Formats: sequence, C-alpha cells, structure tokens
Amino acid sequence: MIEFPIADIRADFPILATQIRNKPLVYLDNAASCQKPDAVINAISDFYRHDYANIHRGVHTLSVRATDKFEAAREKVKTFINAAQAKEIIFVRGATEAINLVAHSYGKAFVKPGDEIVITAMEHHSNIVPWQMLCESVGAVLKVLPMNVSGELIMEHLPGLLTEKTRLVAVAHMSNALGTINPVSAIIEAAHARNIPVLLDGAQAIPHMAVDVQALDCDFYVFSGHKLYGPSGVGVLYGKQKWLDAMPPYQGGGDMIRTVTFDKSTYAGLPHKFEAGTPNIADVVGLGAAIDYLAGIGMEAIAAYEAELLAYATEQASQINGLTLVGTAQEKGAILSFTLAKIHPHDIGTMLDSLGIAIRAGHHCAMPVMDFYQVPATARASFAMYNTQQEIDVLMAGIRELIKLFG
Ligand code: PMP
Repeated sequence: MIEFPIADIRADFPILATQIRNKPLVYLDNAASCQKPDAVINAISDFYRHDYANIHRGVHTLSVRATDKFEAAREKVKTFINAAQAKEIIFVRGATEAINLVAHSYGKAFVKPGDEIVITAMEHHSNIVPWQMLCESVGAVLKVLPMNVSGELIMEHLPGLLTEKTRLVAVAHMSNALGTINPVSAIIEAAHARNIPVLLDGAQAIPHMAVDVQALDCDFYVFSGHKLYGPSGVGVLYGKQKWLDAMPPYQGGGDMIRTVTFDKSTYAGLPHKFEAGTPNIADVVGLGAAIDYLAGIGMEAIAAYEAELLAYATEQASQINGLTLVGTAQEKGAILSFTLAKIHPHDIGTMLDSLGIAIRAGHHCAMPVMDFYQVPATARASFAMYNTQQEIDVLMAGIRELIKLFG
C-alpha cells in the first residue's frame, strides 16, 4: 500500500461513523454522491452564522464579505482546474444545468438545421437529452461514437463522425455506469483539427484525478459540487472565453444585465452574463472549502490510492463465481459495475443494505449502456478516497453471502 492518510481522512467525515442496521456504514455509492468532510459542513454553517448576505453591488459590510467569499471560491475553482481566467468559471446548479446551458446557448448561436452534434455510446442521460432537445428544436442530427464490449470507445469510428457539419463533440471524461476513462485528449485533438469545440462532462472524473482544462484544451468542462465532496445544488461550467463571449445569456434576470429599459436590455460581461438571479451563495462557499480540503491532500495522491483500491476490488470480484463485471476498460476510475447470475441488481442492493453496505442498483441514468449490454440494470460499487480495502472485503463477503442465499 502507498502512504495515504486514510485514518485522518475518515475522521474528517462524520457520517462515516454512522451505523446502518447495527452495522458500520460501508458507503460505496460515491458515483451518485460523495459524503462531506467537516471542513465543508463547517464552512457552510460558519458562512450562514457570520458572513451571510446577498452578494454583488452591496455596500454594507456583510454583503462585501459574502461577495468576497463567493468570488474567492471562483478563484479556487479556477486554480483547481487550471483555467486561464476566473471569469471562465460559471456557477450553476450542477453538471446537468451546465450542459443544458451550453446546449441552449451555444446551440442558439451556432447550431443550424442539418448540423451535427457528436456524443458517445456511454453518456449519462444529462449528456444525451439536452442535445436531443436541441437537435429536435433546430432540426440538427445527433451522432453517436460507439463502444466495444469492454466499455471502450471505438476510436477508429471518430474521424468518420467528424464532418464539416459537426458543431460540437460532447463526451464523458469518465463514465458513471462503467468507470471508463475516455481518451479525451485524442478526441479533442481530432475535433480541433476540424475546428470543432469539445465539451467534457467531468461529473465523474473530477473527484478522482487532477484536471487541467488548459492542458486538455477542452472548450467546455462541467461538473457538480456534490460529487467532489462539496454540497449539492452547486456546480461549475468552465468555458473558454472566446465561446462564452460569443454565446447569448441562458436566463434573463437580475445580476446578468448592464442596463435595462423597456425597449432593450444590455448584458453584463463574464461571468455574470450567465449567472442570473441570486446564486446558491453558501454552497458555492462550501464548494470552495471542498477544493481547499482536496488540495491539502493532493489529487495525485488520491488518484494513486484509488487506483490501488480499484485494482484490489477488481481482483477480489474476479474470484467470485457468478459475478460478471460490466465495463472492463484498460483505463478505469474507481467504479465496479457488475451483475450476479440469477439475482436482480435491486435485490443485490437491498440485501447489501441489510449488511450496512450502500451501493447503487439501476440503470445509472445510462439506459443506452444497459441496452448495449442487454441487462435491465447493474449493481454498482463506486469508491472514494475515504474507502478502504477492509470495506471492499466486507462488500465481497456480502456478495458471497447472497450468492449462497440465492443458491
Ligand atoms: N454526468 C455524469 C457522468 C454523471 O455521473 C452525472 C451524475 N450522476 C451527471 C452528469 C449529472 O450530474 P448532476 O445530477 O449532479 O447534475
């Protein structure tokens, strides 16, 4: 095992001490949402106790203080993903809203009848449906880069999908259903060779690896706070300034305007143009605290620790007769999607819950992935930096027990 301050980290997450059905909680549903450290819980609570007011334009002390904390969080996000400028960071509700913003706003400016949008076979519904809605509304065409049975994109098909009509490529950096980490740099290079921008759905990747949007050279990067040990209800759209400047506002209202008359309104510059209305102020501050916390540990250390966890879990799972792994890509993040012969994934989830183990069973908002593998659902154990090999042992013992029970 590599050196990793796992005991200290676990102590930072109060919920991990919870008992579920008189058993210690084994929380393996991190791909759905991560638990929160004291640093985040306290930052939000302290903010409401000591600093809260509405932000921007306020002249009173609390408003200035709240604005400073809100804008400091934007700087933290900028540094965390190495964006060139803080104004390229737009706060939204989550990855879903970020993708809808781009589909709506970029779509309005750049997508015309007959144009094409390229996604992949392993997208979350939130990186499918907004593009379908856009295509339906303007008469554009949605194209899909296929994957193979290991859950890897078939990259040889990409050049044929990129045409002079392609307006955008939207790809998951890491799949939530399979764990696959996609070759996004190669995709971006191929798309950029044809001047096509690329949106990366980083909802799953962001808690597991260091992300550098300038090194990736992606045009948009989206993620949610709640999967990054931060609060729910807040997320990030990163966009290169040249695109954000060229896109119309997504929503109209307060904070996003420069001037308003009954004849015409003019809009604020970035980032405010895309932040209409009072934002989720305290949770943005909470997200900033999550980023500080992660920076203190280091994303490289987290990635190395989780790689060991995943390797151990994969090895253990492959020794269980009747367990089939769904998604066996070479490049994988800390997700184990599986089925058990003769046991429905929902029964797996319910039975494991009786042992204190939280996993997710279902289609994981990736119905086309389930169709591809011809399964109604999978069971998914997804790991975070606070999980341990001992918890994986508990999971595997639980799985063996229910295989025995179901005969
Ligand atoms: N994309 C991926 C890959 C995801 O896993 C998720 C969340 N499951 C989303 C997008 C949507 O995130 P949210 O529900 O937080 O908006």
